[in-house]
Amino acid sequence: MNHEFSTPTGTHVRTLLILGASGDLTGRLLLPGLTRLIAAGRAPGIALAGAGAPGYSPEQWLARVTEVCSAAEAEATDAGRAELQKIRATTSYSDIDVTVPGELSKLVATLQGPVALYFALPPAVSQKACEVLEPGELPESTLLVMEKPFGSDERSAQELNRTLIRLVPEENIHRVDHFLGKGTVFNIMGLRFANRLLEPLFTAEHVEKIEIIYDEELALEGRAGYYDRAGALRDMIQSHLLQVLGLLTMNAPATLKERDVRDHLGSVLRAAAIAGTPAESTRRARYTAGTSKGRPVPDYASEQGVNRDANTETLAEVTLNINNSRWAGVPFVLRAGKALGRMRKEAIITFRPVSHLPTGFKGTDEPTRLRIGFGPDTLELDLDVNGPGDLYTLDRVTLAAELNSPDLLPYGEVLLGVLSGDPTLSVRGDTAEECWRIVDPILAAWANNEVPIEEYAAGGNGPLGWETNCTLPTS
Ligand code: NDP
Repeated sequence: MNHEFSTPTGTHVRTLLILGASGDLTGRLLLPGLTRLIAAGRAPGIALAGAGAPGYSPEQWLARVTEVCSAAEAEATDAGRAELQKIRATTSYSDIDVTVPGELSKLVATLQGPVALYFALPPAVSQKACEVLEPGELPESTLLVMEKPFGSDERSAQELNRTLIRLVPEENIHRVDHFLGKGTVFNIMGLRFANRLLEPLFTAEHVEKIEIIYDEELALEGRAGYYDRAGALRDMIQSHLLQVLGLLTMNAPATLKERDVRDHLGSVLRAAAIAGTPAESTRRARYTAGTSKGRPVPDYASEQGVNRDANTETLAEVTLNINNSRWAGVPFVLRAGKALGRMRKEAIITFRPVSHLPTGFKGTDEPTRLRIGFGPDTLELDLDVNGPGDLYTLDRVTLAAELNSPDLLPYGEVLLGVLSGDPTLSVRGDTAEECWRIVDPILAAWANNEVPIEEYAAGGNGPLGWETNCTLPTS
């Protein structure tokens, strides 16, 4: 995205300090995202530092950084290659316990500022690290980059916001939702607001239903420690899918400046709520043993690290309404799940039928749809045409496009925003609280067993009967 508008605080980060240097997020997503950004020549002059708990060494950090830099060098511009080499030569590692008062600010003071502190730590550790920081202890230009989950309900998100805002201004707090860095997700704005064909159609008058579906084939894959405490509702719907919903339903901002975009996104999510009681408008399920892509998948409840009595859902579906004049009455179905038979990551906009179809047309009268694929990145728009063949019979054609994959990884886009001090692609504090406000009643009802937990075999399509609520996949 274009960052020329940004830098509301004039911050231009000089050093990225990753806390949790030995962690999974750092190795799998942050470092590859960063080095691809540097390779493309889009983060000139940035310095990289790592920090973590004792037990990890500067040599291990250097080996980790060297490996990802080498991988990125293959595709780098000349300038990018030189920057990657500089990163390898200058990166530093410190072992500190970030929860000990004074340790973090001492380290920050040794680095060239402004510094972006990336909290790639367990959520409770990130929270503690921020709580022990005193106002004024960090330079005001410091950026705090917080990972999901941001709190565990509305109240804890409010508390965390209060803790952070003591330390730096809101514009310097980046609450990461890497979905906003996915090209096709952020491009929803271009699709909606730059096309006369679509722009007027995104209202209750023209749209019958919107679905946002994120079905994964992957099962638990050894992540019980995180996932069993989160579940599909918290892991995907509360965070990523609500951001997609916001982009699909917000009013057009006047500009792409962060204030305009985030005001509109926040405003529409404030109008969102579950469509009825949790029993009427939510469903949850957990997978049992099955086969996925020819591989046996064990019963979720028997996986190591899973508390079978916690009833953690691996598939969740919620129906929301947006209670404003643009969207009143339209159902929004958000669904996310694991260990399903088919990967499906898409938003489906189902349009209402025309107000009058000229009498005499024959053929199926299926609603037309726009499908936005989030991986692979695709667009499909249905149209009804008559002919060839019988002139009076309607046939369905679908205009389909495969979108170019973006040159940056989603975490590269997120980091580009962080390093240039542009929080547009991060979640604003009030919106982070709103997202919990939307799902808190569902979590409470589920904890209270008001909605039964159903079962489905791994590798299948989900529990029997669920298919009626969601549009079937194409082909
Ligand atoms: P990991 O458990 O893999 O890594 C956590 C890191 O924090 C480790 O390097 C650990 O060091 C370090 N650490 C723990 N306690 C302290 C401490 N007191 N002081 C300094 N360092 C400490 O977690 P992940 O990388 O998976 O997750 C990090 C964050 O990112 C979490 O908030 C998670 O929710 C979020 N996230 C993760 C994703 C992923 O795919 N992994 C995806 C999206 C978000 P040590 O190992 O030595 O204890």
